[in-house]
Amino acid sequence: MTIVDTPERRQLRELTRAFVTREVLPHLADWERAGVVPRSLHETAARVGLLGIGFPESVGGSGGDLLDSIVVTEEIIRSGGSSGLIAALFTHGIALPHIVAAQDEHLIDTYVRPTLGGTMIGALAITEPDGGSDVAAIRTCAVRDGDHYVVNGAKTYITSGVRADFVTTAVCTDFPGSGSLSLLVIDKGTPGFTVGRRLEKLGWHCSDTAELSFVDVRVPVANRVGPEDTAFLAVMQQFAAERLSLATSAYATAQRCVDLAVRWCRDRSTFGRPLASRQLVRHRLAEMHTRAEAARAYVHEVAERVARPLQLGASGAAPRAGAVGGQPVVTEVAMAKNVAVAACDHVVDAALQLHGGFGYLRDAEVERHYRDARILGIGGGTTEIMNEIIAKGMGL
Ligand SMILES: Cc1cc2nc3c(=O)[nH]c(=O)nc-3n(C[C@H](O)[C@H](O)[C@H](O)COP(=O)(O)OP(=O)(O)OC[C@H]3O[C@@H](n4cnc5c(N)ncnc54)[C@H](O)[C@@H]3O)c2cc1C
Repeated sequence: MTIVDTPERRQLRELTRAFVTREVLPHLADWERAGVVPRSLHETAARVGLLGIGFPESVGGSGGDLLDSIVVTEEIIRSGGSSGLIAALFTHGIALPHIVAAQDEHLIDTYVRPTLGGTMIGALAITEPDGGSDVAAIRTCAVRDGDHYVVNGAKTYITSGVRADFVTTAVCTDFPGSGSLSLLVIDKGTPGFTVGRRLEKLGWHCSDTAELSFVDVRVPVANRVGPEDTAFLAVMQQFAAERLSLATSAYATAQRCVDLAVRWCRDRSTFGRPLASRQLVRHRLAEMHTRAEAARAYVHEVAERVARPLQLGASGAAPRAGAVGGQPVVTEVAMAKNVAVAACDHVVDAALQLHGGFGYLRDAEVERHYRDARILGIGGGTTEIMNEIIAKGMGL
């Protein structure tokens, strides 16, 4: 029994599998075509207790920690879901943790509880048209005017941005590019805040992605998350949880593709024998499985280290959702993401190849994973930015 294989987490897996089988699989292809998952899915996921996993009950969550969130992600993909579905349904995993960590009761009541209850959708907006990797260079600015901020700027590639009722938005509260960042929760419908067209993408088709524009948008100061000018550190800390989530999507996608490829190679015969009987094919499958397993083991190890101090509670306090350990894990999280993404990239390509022509068709699940996988080395910090973090961690 490993730490993610306790009786409670086995139950969580069963709950997740039943949810995917009943609520997702019959509709996923339609949602992929429509470019969006329905709001009712959020309500259903909340009702069965999945939406709030990783968030404390005191803020409307279902309890559990980072490892429980990992179990849910693994099981969604293992059951035939996808990383795109996870991005769409669990966007609150990146939109809410800063608010929860700031322990702001007004914001928790207004945004966190309804979102975890499935009646609101939130998004996180950091990336701008001028660039996403250099977070300190953000140019969307908020200027204080009495008990409001006046926000001007633009964001892009924002997951769930089309559907979001509110957007946790990183803004510069000094001069553009100063790195003095704050987070403001901005309501949809606020005058001057417009959501542009839904962006067409290579993958993650069921996850809507938007451009956002802010022209003289007045946001109450009460919607600021935490103290002014302190968001850079908060954003960096929460990136760790997002990166581990993407790493989990990566190795889980790899493992799902191994399973699909094994099944295919057993069933498919060429030159009078099943593909799986050929040594070349068997070794290829063995190598794919090994890469997925190694990635899974390493991501679990890093995730356990991230979750451990929180489970104990540094000061005896209850764990904070999405919060992560300090500086020492930043490098390991970056390595975990890169290891898992590399495994995923290799495996989805090999799995598609083993499927032959069928692998290239929309009807093949492996085709969706192949397209969905490509974003995992870009979102939440690119592979190159992870390498930069790792190099710094090496003292270079
Ligand atoms: C489908 C999708 C969903 C997304 N969801 C969200 C979201 O919800 N919220 C959000 O805020 N953002 C979101 N993003 C944005 C994502 O986080 C950024 O795309 C990512 O951080 C990279 O930023 P960029 O695209 O501006 O690339 P850039 O920063 O312009 O980088 C371009 C290339 O240069 C490389 N590069 C940059 N700097 C260096 C360097 N110093 N050394 C070497 N190479 C470098 C990068 O690795 C990359 O390959 C999403 C993106 C996509 C495609």
